[in-house]
Amino acid sequence: MYCAKCNRKLKDKKSVDRGYGPVCWSKKLKADAEFERNQVTIDEVMGVELMELGQQVKFSKSLSRQRGYGVNYEFMTDEQRRSLEDNDYINLVRYKLRQHNEKQGFICGKRDIVTAALLQEVEDPYRGLHLMQTHEKWETVYVVACDMRGLYRVRKEDLEVEGNA
Ligand SMILES: [Zn+2]
Repeated sequence: MYCAKCNRKLKDKKSVDRGYGPVCWSKKLKADAEFERNQVTIDEVMGVELMELGQQVKFSKSLSRQRGYGVNYEFMTDEQRRSLEDNDYINLVRYKLRQHNEKQGFICGKRDIVTAALLQEVEDPYRGLHLMQTHEKWETVYVVACDMRGLYRVRKEDLEVEGNA
């Protein structure tokens, strides 16, 4: 039985039960805790009335896709390199909440997207040491079409329903 993270042979029963050696286990717990702190809104969203396709809405916050989507050893910012050394993970923000002028539109879809993720180093015999996405934060967003000016991804809690015409 081998450690799920560094692939070294596990020596004691406790480690075998966990699937991780002691060092990798404590790093995993730390990363799990960090990720828990990121999980804020998703559970609070449930229970809001169902949005329907074509529903007129207004909103002043939407999620915008961040650059630096794929990170590897060659393409890493100094900050990310430092985080990997200090914390053993990179906190990757894929979509950021952006505040803007109030916009109006109608709902044309619904998607589940990964808005944030942790990247950690993993070693396996085939690829060697590489970065892997170990924790993903999924959020449900509504796709809102605004007068020919494109599509916006809006979280349910940021949508306001417009009175039916
Ligand atoms: Zn290990």
